[in-house]
Amino acid sequence: APLPNPPLQAGEGAQAIDWSAVRTDFPLLRREVHGKPLIYLDSANTGQKPVAVIDAVDDFFRNHNANVSRAVHALGTEATEAYEAARGKLARFLNVRGDELVLCSGTTFALNLVAYSWALPRLKAGDAIVLTRMEHHANIVPWQLVAERTGATIEVANITDDGALDLEHLYSLLTPEVKLLGVTHVSNVLGTVNPVREVCREARKRGIVTVIDGSQAAPHRPLDVAAIGCDFYAITGHKMAGPTGTGVLWARREHLADMPPFLGGGEMIKEVRFDGTVYADAPHKFEAGTPNIAGFVGLGAAVDYLTGIGMATIDAREQALLAHATQALSEVPGLRIFGTAREKAAVISFLVEGAHAHDLATLLDLEGVAIRSGHHCAHPLMQHFGVPATCRASLAFYNTFEEIDAFVAALLKVRKLLL
Ligand code: PLP
Repeated sequence: APLPNPPLQAGEGAQAIDWSAVRTDFPLLRREVHGKPLIYLDSANTGQKPVAVIDAVDDFFRNHNANVSRAVHALGTEATEAYEAARGKLARFLNVRGDELVLCSGTTFALNLVAYSWALPRLKAGDAIVLTRMEHHANIVPWQLVAERTGATIEVANITDDGALDLEHLYSLLTPEVKLLGVTHVSNVLGTVNPVREVCREARKRGIVTVIDGSQAAPHRPLDVAAIGCDFYAITGHKMAGPTGTGVLWARREHLADMPPFLGGGEMIKEVRFDGTVYADAPHKFEAGTPNIAGFVGLGAAVDYLTGIGMATIDAREQALLAHATQALSEVPGLRIFGTAREKAAVISFLVEGAHAHDLATLLDLEGVAIRSGHHCAHPLMQHFGVPATCRASLAFYNTFEEIDAFVAALLKVRKLLL
């Protein structure tokens, strides 16, 4: 039987919140662009930061700045404790153990770590990797590099017309040759929420290791990585209210214990000798060099901020905004939405007949509306739809219904200018 995405359906457990007060937590949202109030609809690209995160980073540099795990002085201890506290918060956020979390620079680093440390030493000619057509380049190119070096092949699961995974096709690809399956939890282009729990269960039955790209899930939904049953789960901090240059790889302990280090240097060792270096235990074995300490202090504050509102509450809010935006956009003549799966996050990719995506985005910018246009780091998905680019409006809980109405009014205006 299909398993629901854990642990909550949209709206379940949501709390009543004063969203106008929440919005004032984001200083940047008060600014104007081209003389118009900013309407920021590019949160799938990077999220805006609440003052709690900005203050945490500021406080670290003003009052606690030191390197981690090196100095015995008071500041060194404070910095180490703050950095490790962030790991603990992230562990609770994902419902996993802290010693299974590798702190790194983002999803791109996390997926490359799996590719280089787990896949490269194990895969060989005759093996196969399965990906899906809706993956971000970060969950494609590292596997291509592994395939080139090992002789493994890559198979790609199709998507359906509404932008959902074609599960029947995916499962038909899971042959005995397949060693690894990479799937995005939520598509950054289509918004589709993939049934990762069910997919991982099928892969596991066949002894296939699963790598889930959680970049677009973590900012929007309550997450229970343990319940998903994957082998690796990657997230990036800057899309979930945290600073850029922060990310996390969760991996099963047995994998981390078996994987060689990816980068060598300070912090990742117990003892260095020219006749043989002894590495630190995981996860520190994978954290060579001085980490982005202030960034993780900020990400810890971001986790506190998001969980303070509640991920179920955020999910419910964004689902309401998504429904409103989808309805409002249906009034725009010639507008086509890419990705209409039943379960989707607040991401709307679209094109307007006769107008180029970049022209629309450029003219919308002059109206103060920030959307993204382009391939969204998903060339194979653009190829699937036979388009070079789409516009993408991506919403976050700090957006308002009024902003969506103003965006659609601006879109109707610029459409007239272009057609
Ligand atoms: N995967 C998905 C689905 C994304 O949306 C992104 C961000 O654009 C990434 C991976 C890469 O994240 P980062 O550039 O932060 O490493």
